[in-house]
Amino acid sequence: MCGVFGIYGVPEAAKLAYLGLYALQHRGQESAGIASSDMGKVYSRVAMGLVADIFTPQDLDSLKGSSAIGHTRYSTTGSSTIKNAQPIVVDYSHGTMAMAHNGNLTNARQVRDFLEAHGSIFSSTTDTEVLIHLIATSEGNKLIDCIVDALTQIKGAYSLIILTKKKLIGAVDPNNIRPLSLGKKGDGWVLASETCAFDIIDAEYVRPLEPGEIVVIDKDGLKSYKPFKPQQPAKCIFEYVYFARPDSYIWGNSVQKARKALGAQLAKEFPVKADYVVPVPDSSNSAATGYSSESKIPYEMGIIRNHYIGRTFIEPSQTIRDFGAKIKYNPVKEILKDKKLILIDDSIVRGTTGKKLVKMLRTVGAKEVHWRISSPPITNSCFYGVDTPTRKELIAAGNTVEKIREFMGVETLGYLSPEGMVKAVGGKMDEYCMACFSGAYPVDSANIQKCISEEKNEEKF
Ligand code: 5GP
Ligand code: MG
Repeated sequence: MCGVFGIYGVPEAAKLAYLGLYALQHRGQESAGIASSDMGKVYSRVAMGLVADIFTPQDLDSLKGSSAIGHTRYSTTGSSTIKNAQPIVVDYSHGTMAMAHNGNLTNARQVRDFLEAHGSIFSSTTDTEVLIHLIATSEGNKLIDCIVDALTQIKGAYSLIILTKKKLIGAVDPNNIRPLSLGKKGDGWVLASETCAFDIIDAEYVRPLEPGEIVVIDKDGLKSYKPFKPQQPAKCIFEYVYFARPDSYIWGNSVQKARKALGAQLAKEFPVKADYVVPVPDSSNSAATGYSSESKIPYEMGIIRNHYIGRTFIEPSQTIRDFGAKIKYNPVKEILKDKKLILIDDSIVRGTTGKKLVKMLRTVGAKEVHWRISSPPITNSCFYGVDTPTRKELIAAGNTVEKIREFMGVETLGYLSPEGMVKAVGGKMDEYCMACFSGAYPVDSANIQKCISEEKNEEKF
């Protein structure tokens, strides 16, 4: 998962990109970067770490110009090193190009093998670099033709932002797997994964990009292209469940509204008598408010999260992750002692967080723990940009709900149904990608199945 941002035609663009990336920090905490253009030259600064730690005031001063793009990275393809950090900036025969990508290209391996066999040399292990090569080697005359030519050859998920000396380009894959929205800032334009990045710079939200849409922004304004055959949308429903910030709009819808509805639906599907509804902060706060208002059971902040540690999920090894849950959460004894609790989380991935938490709740005297999850069991890996682990690490891949309940040590366990999830979020089942819950991969399925059967999905292409 990653956050992408772009801005055109606004003074001190890099400083606004910095703020935009700060708002998108939840989408990736491994590395961040900004590339800017003053119409004559492209400047960039990319480093490992958090947005607030990377850029000094001097850096931002040196990123000159009125257009800029930015990226926060959470690696899905390629390891977490500076070589794989973005935006990728290259000089090629048509000038300079910087690229920031959210998503995962499912045929990147094959395309890369082909390009390497024909002499291309790669400097990173990301799927994104494949796109750069395809654009650079395209025989199209205009930039838009080269981009369309390159995108025609790739499959998978992309919300893409490209900066050249004179243009800002945004592109979304034909199935619209990842979100990307368009905004306006004065006379200039803004693009971002989520609209919380518009709010922080006082930009106005215009609309989400449409499936397969490419927008090219330059001194003549904005032009929209739809060069691909219309496809069935496959919007990642996990963006609503977990990834996006609740104050954002994605694909035109409020994340907070969707998340509250997920909680309310969960209360309808799995009601139980209890004293309090307690969220596992922060990712399930909104779902827990929905559960609480639907069930009329009071909401209590019974678990306090220490915000100064990163998301435990990112820790590189199982031993550190186990320890991570303890330093991240602390139960409030005063509130929880002798109480019957409905504990809400948005998802169970490996099951490590939940097990540790339940143990902590018992230690402070919780009488009953009813575990409620505002999404269905995660049974399959994501190949479109979410860093879900391999199937064998997913607790729900090889266990029944009853087995998971036993493992967690809770009185009851209830997962939201797939139908209930879609009903809460709005729209129809077939407009979402729910592959992590169902194993039905809507895009490039044959290639993904082959990769799974060869047990190569640790590599994710
Ligand atoms: P588990 O301990 O079951 O592996 O992790 C469950 C927790 O991880 C939940 O609280 C959920 O909010 C969070 N989570 C779910 N998906 C992701 C993800 O893709 N990245 C990160 N960092 N956390 C996740
Ligand atoms: Mg969580």
